[in-house]
Amino acid sequence: MARATDTQPVKLPTLGLDAQEMCQALLRIDTTNPPGNERPAAEYVAGRLREVGYQPTILEPAPQRANVVCRYRGSGEAEPLLLATHLDVVEAHEQFWNYPPFSGIIAEDCLWGRGAIDMKNMVAMSAAVMRRLASERVELCRDVIFAAVADEEAGCDHGSRYLVEEHPELVRAEYALGEAGGFSLHLAGSPFYPIQVAEKGICWIRATVRGEPGHGSIPRSDSALVTLARAAAKLGRAQFPVHETRQVKDFLHQVAARQPAFAQPLLRVLSHPMLLPRMLKLLPDQAVRRSFSAILSNTASPTVFRAGSKINVIPELAELHIDGRILPGQSEESFLAELRHIIGSDLDIEVMKSLPPVVTEPIESPLLDTIRRQIAQREPQATVVPHLIPGFTDAKYFTKLGARWYGFSPVKIELGSGIRFTDMFHGHNERIPIAGLHWGAELLYDVVTEFCAQNPDRDG
Ligand SMILES: [Zn+2]
Repeated sequence: MARATDTQPVKLPTLGLDAQEMCQALLRIDTTNPPGNERPAAEYVAGRLREVGYQPTILEPAPQRANVVCRYRGSGEAEPLLLATHLDVVEAHEQFWNYPPFSGIIAEDCLWGRGAIDMKNMVAMSAAVMRRLASERVELCRDVIFAAVADEEAGCDHGSRYLVEEHPELVRAEYALGEAGGFSLHLAGSPFYPIQVAEKGICWIRATVRGEPGHGSIPRSDSALVTLARAAAKLGRAQFPVHETRQVKDFLHQVAARQPAFAQPLLRVLSHPMLLPRMLKLLPDQAVRRSFSAILSNTASPTVFRAGSKINVIPELAELHIDGRILPGQSEESFLAELRHIIGSDLDIEVMKSLPPVVTEPIESPLLDTIRRQIAQREPQATVVPHLIPGFTDAKYFTKLGARWYGFSPVKIELGSGIRFTDMFHGHNERIPIAGLHWGAELLYDVVTEFCAQNPDRDG
């Protein structure tokens, strides 16, 4: 864990190149979860950290499900900063990709591969930051903890949850930088950098219907399968009630403020969230419409449907999995009441997993100030906007130890590059612009060193 002091300073390539090389190597290791198999990736990262004198800890709660943790020692005048990253990725279907998803190929000025954005780029950038800190022996007031974990994409049990519950002393921090944010987003031509300060909760549900079985030759409209299908169709059409959240209100205000004068009257409507669903219908871009809708209300997506096994038998049991997401300020109970109102009372509902929303409070902090200052130095016309994400991240567990979480895994994406950042998450042809990766590594290093060199007592 400790920073070794008995090694000679190591000559490293530029931060950008160091991150690029590690990112490419990681993209070539298939850590599709399930099953995960993060061990080789954890060993690779640990090896690169050992080169500069660290003694990283590998923790493996289940075979091949490895996490790697490492610490750069500051003076201890302030509490640690955690760089939170994950090693696993979601599956990739090669037939839809322009280049094989585990090739780590460089083409069209990008590094391609599953995990290039979510989030082996951040593993590599954070590791590059750690290597630079060690090789330059930078003096800091806080420890910097690096954690590259398993299992984020399947619920965190073998990763952040395990570390927080079994080894809290290794990862306890006052602040954390991780998913999701720090990427360029262009809205009506203006550049923004969203920083996650809140994420929705989850409520995963198994809904079942029992009905009379029967012969397929004599249809029944009340069969378990038909009843369940009706409920799924209702969910597909439904709009959950809109709830105002501070995060969305602030986000919309800040985005609106940067739009041209002629658009202002229209944008003022944005301060009335209740009108938003109607306004959203006017948006031509379906993907943008869906993303916005997801942060205005609780949501529920039918995702798994199981019923029947034989073509001429009407099944007596049908099962539907519903991926429920809960806004900050809402609860499991309020969400379930809304869900019941939509799907009716024919279904038995069982909560399989439930985790509350995560909110960083207060939003403002010296760390966010540092991020703003560093981005302004590079791109004065850009606006940093705190935002709420509809998905979930390792923040769910790391914040249980008190960390204030900021989604900041910086990537610069040029307007006109043809890459829309949000499409890269779990999408086909995931890739990262090489220049954007180098930019991100430098920015992350400058944020970490500037922030961690501040002594909160001395510097106010
Ligand atoms: Zn991720």
